[in-house]
Amino acid sequence: MPVFLVDMDGVLANFSGRFDQLWQERHPDKPFTPWEERTSWYIEDNYPEELHDLIFEIAREPGYFRTLDPLPGAVEGINKLTELGDVWICTAPLTGNPTCASDKMDWAAEHLGEQWRKRLVITKDKTLVRGDFLIDDKPLIKGSMVPQWTHILFQSPGITEDHPVQAKDWDHLIKSFGRLLGK
Ligand SMILES: [Mg+2]
Repeated sequence: MPVFLVDMDGVLANFSGRFDQLWQERHPDKPFTPWEERTSWYIEDNYPEELHDLIFEIAREPGYFRTLDPLPGAVEGINKLTELGDVWICTAPLTGNPTCASDKMDWAAEHLGEQWRKRLVITKDKTLVRGDFLIDDKPLIKGSMVPQWTHILFQSPGITEDHPVQAKDWDHLIKSFGRLLGK
């Protein structure tokens, strides 16, 4: 049975959607770059440097990670994935946010079910974690080790030819793995 590692922000939880909402509410006078127009995975890189502190202020707010909505198809998708393998959530905390790690655990329990509290790997370095596949929206994932998993790139801004997207949404992801695993 394959081991799937599933990233949280941008795959399960809608980090960008919540950010965009708060950004427009709090800074209606400032420029706004919608998801479709972003050219970098890093939100701040899509904004002038003088706005970066205001951007970090939102993401570093205690409780921020608890307030994210699930991405379309994510709840159903991760449940379907459990029929195809051993599924773990593998997420990097935003260390500047004091409640990020505990909020991520509470978020998983609230939106996916209590059992996911015990299936959460919180690490800044995902290359240290073993598994067959890492489903992650970050185009390039680096760390201390040569990764053991195969990176399945989930749709995100800043995709280039060097890092082509392999799952455009949850439906696509489940169908692709179903075919691959003959289920
Ligand atoms: Mg992510």
